Order: sequence, then structure tokens, then C-alpha cells
Amino acid sequence: MKEETYQIIIAGAGAAGLSLVMHLIEAGINNDKQILVIDKSSKKENDRTWCFWETGKGLFEECVIQQWDHVSVFAPQFSKKLPLLPYRYKMIRGIDFYSYCFNKIKATKNITIINEAIQEITDEGKVITTDSIYSADLIFNSAISQTQKSSNYHQLLQHFKGWYIETKNDTFDSTTATLMDFTIDQHNECRFMYELPLTKKKALIEFTLFSEKLLKDEEYEREIKVYIERKHPNLTYSITEKEFGIIPMTDQPFPSYNGSKIINIGTIGGATKASTGYTFQFIQKQCAAIVDCILNNRSFEKINHLKPSRFHFYDRVFLRVLREKKEPSYKVFTDLFKNLPDALPFKFLAEETTIIEEIKVLSAFNKSIFAGAAIRQEISKKAIKPAQ
Ligand SMILES: Cc1cc2nc3c(=O)[nH]c(=O)nc-3n(C[C@H](O)[C@H](O)[C@H](O)COP(=O)(O)OP(=O)(O)OC[C@H]3O[C@@H](n4cnc5c(N)ncnc54)[C@H](O)[C@@H]3O)c2cc1C
Repeated sequence: MKEETYQIIIAGAGAAGLSLVMHLIEAGINNDKQILVIDKSSKKENDRTWCFWETGKGLFEECVIQQWDHVSVFAPQFSKKLPLLPYRYKMIRGIDFYSYCFNKIKATKNITIINEAIQEITDEGKVITTDSIYSADLIFNSAISQTQKSSNYHQLLQHFKGWYIETKNDTFDSTTATLMDFTIDQHNECRFMYELPLTKKKALIEFTLFSEKLLKDEEYEREIKVYIERKHPNLTYSITEKEFGIIPMTDQPFPSYNGSKIINIGTIGGATKASTGYTFQFIQKQCAAIVDCILNNRSFEKINHLKPSRFHFYDRVFLRVLREKKEPSYKVFTDLFKNLPDALPFKFLAEETTIIEEIKVLSAFNKSIFAGAAIRQEISKKAIKPAQ
């Protein structure tokens, strides 16, 4: 078996692995460190689309294919077009992100990429693949999760199917993204549609559910078809691409750093926001913090505590409210968007609010439902042993 040694190994070249490489390059850390990036896939396909909101220009601005400064939310007896400023809602296609990162890496020294399947990563700093053993002082892992699902926590899934469609005539308002359209059958779950227009003739239309069980493929397909027929009657369109995804929505902790040479990043390192599934922007914050630790020789322990613990509490309560279903889920979101200054919900969901702003946000929700869920959540938490 081949054996090689590097200073840094990045196991997994998806959103987190490649974001971290870009942050390391940006900080010049590759100038004096040999870095190995390992992924089982060469990432040649458009396997996902990322949307997120941020202020100003981000590190991946060149990959942004579309951005909107307004989003709409629809629900029974409710519709609102929200200006997002200072945020903009941005879209990046997976394939553009992967190509952009690989091109940057090719033009940079000291970074090697290999496509091999990882079998094991050991605490001593070895990454074992089918063909080789690679060692390093530091391993950033987004590929292999050791965390077993625990029934002590909420375990919802965000699952969705999307169609990229193209029309002959101008159909979409490309200045506004539909963030959530709840005017579809809810089946006593949380179900909504996204409509993300790329141009007047092109859009990504996605059917999304927060629930415990997946649907059959034809059910996702039927919902999208019916929605397009209702929203754009008599539309002639062709489907150019499809995407399907599952994102875990769980309050189960996914610690990033346990004192060994391995630092988990991305979804398996706790970067997915439990109550929304949004991950991309939290990955960027995680990568920036890692770079700060490397440059300033700080302990990676900090990566486990990137956000104040109250945001974990809000997520847990939110998941409980969704699970308990004491009111339709669309009401919860409607309250959030109806009763607050336009950009505040986005600031809150980005975990960038102050406590004073959070009091405003929390007071927008149905108080008896949220207070009840918060109390039940605290009582049930006491009955659960903390994760080791
Ligand atoms: C279809 C889809 C759409 C999404 N849309 C959004 C969105 O709009 N906004 C948002 O914020 N989040 C979104 N997410 C959630 C999240 O941003 C993504 O899942 C993101 O890709 C997570 O990054 P990651 O690096 O943790 O995982 P990944 O990007 O999945 O990267 C993990 C990498 O590890 C590699 N790997 C796995 N096992 C092995 C192995 N044994 N050996 C070697 N390599 C291995 C994989 O090939 C992969 O490249 C979406 C997720 C999906 C699935």
C-alpha cells in the first residue's frame, strides 16, 4: 500500500472541503504547508444548487449565477414581497462551484487532489483509502460521519425535488425569488414550493417538505407539475435538469473538534442549521474560524462554539413546534415574515441578531405555542443524558 505524509488533509471535496481549501488559499496557508484533498468523486456533475443570503460580496461571488434583493412568501390569506437589504439572496450551482475551486487549486502550489474512496480516518491522523494510507497533523473531514442518529433528539428531514424549466415566452419575474409558497396541500406537514427565476424564461421550481418520511419519487414530480399548472396556466415548458436532496434537520449535536487530529466540517461538523437546513453560509463562517485558529495558533475547540448557545435553543424549540403541529407550520413562518421589519427574519435565521432583536422576533410568534414548546423542550432535555 502507498503511504504519503502531508501537513493538512481535507477529506471530502464538497461544499465544506472546497470552501476550506479556498479560505486556506485566500490566507496563504498553502504557501508553507503541503495539503492533500481527497474525494471519491471527481465532482463533474451539477449535483445540487445552493441558495443563501449574505451582505456584500462573498468569496464565491464569481460563481453566483443569480441574486435577488426581494423575495416573496405566500400562504393561505397571506402574501408578502420582502426587500432583503442589506442582504441579497444568491444562487450558486454545484458544478460552477466545483469547477471554480478546482481551477483555483490547479493554479496554486502545494495542493494535491486525488479521487479515492476513504474507508477510515483514525484519531492518530491517518486517512485510509482503498489504495493508500495518508497521514497528516491535521485532517478536516466532511466525508465520513461517526455520529449515530439518536432518538433522544428531533430527527426531521428536509427533502426536496426541483426541476429547472425553460419556457418559450417571458414568464418569470427574474427580480424576485419565491422563497416559500405554502399555498399547496399541506397533508398536515410542512410543505412549500420555491420558485427561483434565473431569467424571464428559466427557473428552478422546487417542492420541499419538512417531515419524517420521504415520498415516492412520483409524488414529488406530481406536486411540481400541478403547481406549475396552477401558477402558470397553459405554460409550455421543457425540463432541462432535475435535482433531489435530503438535508438532516436535527438538534442532535455534531461536534466539530474532539481534541484529536480530526476536525469535522460541513454537515457532519454541525454546520447545518437545524431549523432551516441552510448550511452554505455557516460553512463559510466555520472555514473563516478554522483559518483564524491556524494563523493564530489557537485551539480548534472554538469551532465547537461558533454561535451563542441560545441559537441552539431556538432551533430545538422550533423543531418541537414543527413536530407537535399545534398550528399549521405555514402559520409559524407567516408570523415570522408578517410581523417583523423585512430583513430581520433573515438576520435572525443567519444567527446574526442581538438579544434585543431576538426578543422582537420571538414576540412575533404565537406565544402560547412557543412558550409551551420551550417548557416541554427544557423538561424533556433534563430527562436526556447530554451527548458525550
Ligand atoms: C441537493 C441539495 C441542495 C442543497 N441546497 C442547499 C441550499 O440551497 N442552501 C444551503 O445552505 N444548503 C443546501 N444544502 C445543504 C448543504 O449546503 C449541502 O449538503 C452541502 O453540500 C454540505 O456540504 P458538505 O461539504 O458537508 O457535504 P458535501 O457537499 O456532500 O461533501 C461531502 C463530500 O465527501 C465526499 N465523500 C463522501 N464519502 C466519501 C468517502 N467514503 N470517500 C471519499 N469521499 C467521500 C463526497 O463525494 C462529497 O464530495 C443542500 C443539500 C443538497 C443535498
